[in-house]
Amino acid sequence: VIVEVVGVGTELLLGQIADTNAQWIGGRLAAIGADALFHQVVGDNLQRITSSIELALSRADAVIVTGGLGPTQDDITRHALAAVAGVALERRPELADGIRERFARAGREMPESNLVQADVPAGARTITPERGTAPGIVLDVGGRRVYALPGVPVEMREMMEGTVLPELAVTSGPATIQSRTVRCVGMAESRIAELLDDLFHGSTNPTIAYLAGGGEVKVRLTAKASSAEEAAALIGPGVETVLTRLGDVVTSTSDEELEEVVGRLLRAAGRTIACAESLTGGSLSMRLSRVPGASDYFLGSAVVYRPASKRALLGVLQETLDGPGVVSRECAAEMAAGARSRFGADVGLSLTGAAGPEGHDGAPPGTVWIGLDADERTHQRRIRAPGDRAMVVRWSEQAALDLVRRLLEGRPLLDAEPVVR
Ligand code: ATP
Ligand code: MG
Repeated sequence: VIVEVVGVGTELLLGQIADTNAQWIGGRLAAIGADALFHQVVGDNLQRITSSIELALSRADAVIVTGGLGPTQDDITRHALAAVAGVALERRPELADGIRERFARAGREMPESNLVQADVPAGARTITPERGTAPGIVLDVGGRRVYALPGVPVEMREMMEGTVLPELAVTSGPATIQSRTVRCVGMAESRIAELLDDLFHGSTNPTIAYLAGGGEVKVRLTAKASSAEEAAALIGPGVETVLTRLGDVVTSTSDEELEEVVGRLLRAAGRTIACAESLTGGSLSMRLSRVPGASDYFLGSAVVYRPASKRALLGVLQETLDGPGVVSRECAAEMAAGARSRFGADVGLSLTGAAGPEGHDGAPPGTVWIGLDADERTHQRRIRAPGDRAMVVRWSEQAALDLVRRLLEGRPLLDAEPVVR
């Protein structure tokens, strides 16, 4: 079954709110195997809402409209529905009573204008709200169906779960669209696409999509099948092939965040980690501690923003601060060793660099040194992160966590220039 979502509201066009309704509905439609080919957003204008719904009906079996069902003048979805069906609005006494009762129960006086929510296109079915006052409207037009739901997300979701999705599931039969996401760090999106190109060329089930951002690339495989098990069986071999082709840049085949991967590996190895953070200002620790149960392996972090703090808290040498400076291999190495010994951790991880927009201590913005101190070795890696401050910080976190992942998985450490003590 093909379903089209139409978001109504000028505030969506003006960028004042994001169309999270369409996002949520998209996910739920995929779960029941309904095909969403188009989404539309339209402002609060009768003619344009009407033509949006007509366009959607011309290419979908069912249309889900959200928004514009309230009691104010700008809420005109009901009028558009009546226009699409070529019928008049009629006031339903039972709906009007329901609205009155709702206000009475809440001990509030009802503005007369609220009764327009009892106006429904002739012949339409309604969905009774549990929370809000606006009933949903279900209208059949020429063998196709329009569902009009309130814009308020909780009210919309309630009607989707209670009525729309169950009805669509019956029409579409047993079907589901499932995805698996393989996440990669340390390889460009274009290179990944090149390596996988022949595999999925012309494949429609599963399909493949690439999403780059935040210092990683996500490769998403999506399959449609009559059951979740069947979809998993279609995707599974593809995931295995992707893993074989891409090798050790793959951080997860089940959409885990890198901090989850590192946490899982540390827990499995029974090892602990401590950090020393300069340019990231504690955000690496935030990520590590986000994972439930992180105290099993995450001991703590020193946020050492100024050179004197690096020295006082972690024992970075004055010669290092005066000589190579804070954005250097030496400083990263001493910070990692300092964090490891101060916290008594198995692994010390450090980050020092220039987040930008200015350079720092002679290093251009985006220059970051990562230090790792574990077992009998110390390892440092320099990266050049692109973008603004936030992006440099994010890339730094990714590269640092990925270095720990590589260590724990026994993979080669990137830019390996190990110094054996
Ligand atoms: P109300 O009875 O509150 O007027 P309504 O059905 O008329 O409901 P709108 O007036 O269009 O809906 O939107 C009400 C509120 O719901 C908006 O202010 C916004 O916060 C939220 N909303 C509307 N549409 C969306 C959407 N597509 N995505 C996310 N939130 C939305
Ligand atoms: Mg409204």
